[in-house]
Amino acid sequence: MFPVVDPNLPIIDPKFYREAGISAIMTNAYLLKRGRPGQPPKDIHETLDFKGTVATDSGAYQILEYGHVGVRPAEIVAYQEKIDTDIGVILDLPTGFHSDARRAGWTVDETVRRADEALKRIKRKDILWVGPVQGGIHIKEVARSAIEMGKRPFSIYALGSPTELMEAQRFDVLVDMIVAAKKGLPHSRPLHLFGAGHPSMFPFIVALGCDMFDSAAYALYARRGRYLTSDGTQELAEIEEFSCMCRICDRTTPGEMRRLDLPEKEQLLSKHNLLACFSELRRIREAIRRGHLWDLLEHRTYANPAFKKFLAKIVQHSPFLERFTPTVKPRGISHFGKASDDRPEMVRYNERKSRIPMERGKAVVLLPGRWRRPYHEDPRNLPMVSKLANRPNVSICFYTIPFGPVPMELDETFPLAQTESFDSHEPTMYEERACQVAAWVKRLSPKQVFLVSEGEYGGALRKELSGATRQLKVIGIQAKGSKPDLIVDSIIRRLR
Ligand SMILES: [Zn+2]
Repeated sequence: MFPVVDPNLPIIDPKFYREAGISAIMTNAYLLKRGRPGQPPKDIHETLDFKGTVATDSGAYQILEYGHVGVRPAEIVAYQEKIDTDIGVILDLPTGFHSDARRAGWTVDETVRRADEALKRIKRKDILWVGPVQGGIHIKEVARSAIEMGKRPFSIYALGSPTELMEAQRFDVLVDMIVAAKKGLPHSRPLHLFGAGHPSMFPFIVALGCDMFDSAAYALYARRGRYLTSDGTQELAEIEEFSCMCRICDRTTPGEMRRLDLPEKEQLLSKHNLLACFSELRRIREAIRRGHLWDLLEHRTYANPAFKKFLAKIVQHSPFLERFTPTVKPRGISHFGKASDDRPEMVRYNERKSRIPMERGKAVVLLPGRWRRPYHEDPRNLPMVSKLANRPNVSICFYTIPFGPVPMELDETFPLAQTESFDSHEPTMYEERACQVAAWVKRLSPKQVFLVSEGEYGGALRKELSGATRQLKVIGIQAKGSKPDLIVDSIIRRLR
């Protein structure tokens, strides 16, 4: 994340960035140029007293604000080269929030034209040039823009996220915009999201594939006396205790901070807000390393109902996310009930289980898949499995809460054996799962079905199976109270 720095009015002392380990910042080349009329361009690192990576925006956002910035596209490219920026942006034409489809289309075409012109003018190949994707809320235009810009050799691509969209919490539109951009752009190049805003939404945009972003929210919120946390925003005026223990919050109390002069208060709040953003980034990276980013998304939906909608929209793109989700992870996943049904690993299982070669005409033995995994190692299942597994005419399947049917052959594959789940005891959940298990059994056209029935799930499954087809003869056996050895003997006796 690049903290956005006003080149003419820096609130934070650059020493703080060094101490906090912040290695990249972003500033605005257009505002820098305008603030120094008549002065020759100077190394941006020297101007900002910052030795790390400096990215410069071109002033496109100012076009959006004022309609026109009085600087030519070629001029701003040359200026960024002269100030020795590390990452530069061409002067694109932002679509904004209020454009209709026709104007959006025009901004896409005009940005492509400007991109071609800029690429001809660029002399400094050591600068990473950013190609902005336009289209605003018009998803078809975003898709077209991504394909067109993706054909051009930019090192980084960027998507403009209209501030109004964030403020109105229209995360559903934002999701469609990012997905449309990701689908059109080359996957080997990073995608930057302009103006990403609040730390609480970072996990969502990272999950959607945004690799980089910049944020001015830390400073804008501080100006209005707002304290950022990963769960939302708090008003400094209302805080009794700081939940954070960063170097700022550890040394002062909310009361003491409130009594400070405005500039000092703003500076301290900005620093905390910035550290809150970077702390969130650490949490996200650690979640990625552990394979738990989706769990973080589900967790975050409880911070704000708008995030529930955010995730609900992301879920609609689960099949796309599934393509880029590792098939094996260092740790198992969590299934928190219905909300987790659409996580990419579940989508993958539901899709891939239909590819398993079918062994039709056998006797299917349905065993309860309990908390112990792999399911066949459950001490109540093991004696039955060991006597049945090698019989050529028997197929074993576990009926489970998170996955519905789990054929014995897949019992030890990821993430089946490594999923933590909980039983909500909701009748509708049992019925839904029973329906999936019954559909699976029907596909096997079994000669016989033995249902080792347990609890309400077993009851729902029995009902579902007997209603499924008349040909399906279900032999029900109560698991509770009977010994596994006796159950398996009675199954073997009745095998045809
Ligand atoms: Zn803090």
